[in-house]
Amino acid sequence: MGNHSKREMLGAVGAGIAGLSASLYIAKLGIKTHIFEKRSGTEVDGVGIQLTPNALYSLAPLNVLDDLIAESFFPEKLIVSDAHLPGQLNSIQLKGEMEHKYGFPYLTSSRNLLHKILLKRANQESLIKISFNSKIISTKDENAVICKTDLGKNFSFKYVLVCNGITSKFTSHDSNIRLGFSDAKVLRTCLSGKDLPLGILKNINLWMGKSFHVVSYPVNNESDLNVVIVKKNKGPLGDKKKLENELLNPRLLSVRNQNLTYLLKGVTSWSVWPLYRTGIITKPTQIHSRNSLYIGDAGHPLYPHLAQGAALALEDSHTLYKLLHRCRNDKLNISKVFQNFAELRIRRYQRMQVESRLNGNIFQQQGILRLIRNMLVKNFGPKLMEKDWIYENRNISRI
Ligand SMILES: Cc1cc2nc3c(=O)[nH]c(=O)nc-3n(C[C@H](O)[C@H](O)[C@H](O)COP(=O)(O)OP(=O)(O)OC[C@H]3O[C@@H](n4cnc5c(N)ncnc54)[C@H](O)[C@@H]3O)c2cc1C
Repeated sequence: MGNHSKREMLGAVGAGIAGLSASLYIAKLGIKTHIFEKRSGTEVDGVGIQLTPNALYSLAPLNVLDDLIAESFFPEKLIVSDAHLPGQLNSIQLKGEMEHKYGFPYLTSSRNLLHKILLKRANQESLIKISFNSKIISTKDENAVICKTDLGKNFSFKYVLVCNGITSKFTSHDSNIRLGFSDAKVLRTCLSGKDLPLGILKNINLWMGKSFHVVSYPVNNESDLNVVIVKKNKGPLGDKKKLENELLNPRLLSVRNQNLTYLLKGVTSWSVWPLYRTGIITKPTQIHSRNSLYIGDAGHPLYPHLAQGAALALEDSHTLYKLLHRCRNDKLNISKVFQNFAELRIRRYQRMQVESRLNGNIFQQQGILRLIRNMLVKNFGPKLMEKDWIYENRNISRI
């Protein structure tokens, strides 16, 4: 066998939100998972995350909600404003209302916290083994799946879940979901909002500007705010200074919204991220083969403008569990389950991919389209902003 290990049942590439939640769900069925994670430690980037009711619906069966809720924030409203105008255009109520309508609240939290909680649960689970410092450099899918690490070790699995995130190199069996860089950059920071107006501290805010938009929300009860600016910028990431000069000076952006001006004044440092251009999935075979299934961002890269990446990853794990559970008494045909999964999920992925891209465009409109958008948001805001099809959980509860 050389450097081959003996064949195990299920491997997973990536201990992110998809990899950890899928393994936790699968452990409920008595199936072991061996996860490979390239990172050496447990810390992930500590940016904020919005967790919508559909995300919480899929987290609840993993017994992690109490820990999550204890350290997260319940925003009162989602407020939408034009960065170049005073006041707000419209808002929708989140606190109370979301739970009432969809059975679960709308939370804002930190990605790191969610990750830490999932990892803690996985570490308590004897059916999950996690190998850190283990970067998988290739997966060869024949009768078995051979996962090769950067240290030259081969691991053989009957089946593998590919969950290694948006930059996954393994999602290359079809060119439609290959990634490139978009024409925008994301600037992110976390700041103490103690001195900021309550309108910022209690709510999720979206300011739409000409060729940029800004989102802020609290990540806990300590007034720590996550702030994100998405700005059209084709230059390389190295242009950080130029980007910062442009963005930290509200005057240059013609910001007239008072709350946004307060917010930008409080910011002293940023990290700059590339924004990936994502394709649209066109057929189920792009995310499954006989022995592999691509879930989370690895299977369906998404623009962040809908705040649904983590929610979709959690839904993936929950859906996979339901499908496996449904056929547990027959001879468990995992290849068939992978195929069913892909066929069942593809429409939702497509809709999310299209809508998140569209949101990015709508948020940054200029000229007459900007005026029309503002008029629509002012008059029909709640109808346009509330997205039943995202938050309700029928797509999973019906399985
Ligand atoms: C800045 C930012 C803000 C976001 N905000 C939101 C939000 O508000 N709401 C929301 O729902 N979603 C949000 N998302 C999206 C969300 O975080 C992702 O969709 C979610 O993390 C996807 O989970 P995943 O497990 O597929 O990928 P990830 O969480 O990225 O996990 C992938 C894991 O695989 C590991 N890995 C990668 N390559 C290899 C390899 N070759 N071998 C072994 N391990 C590997 C990585 O180290 C990582 O741990 C945001 C994403 C980012 C980047």
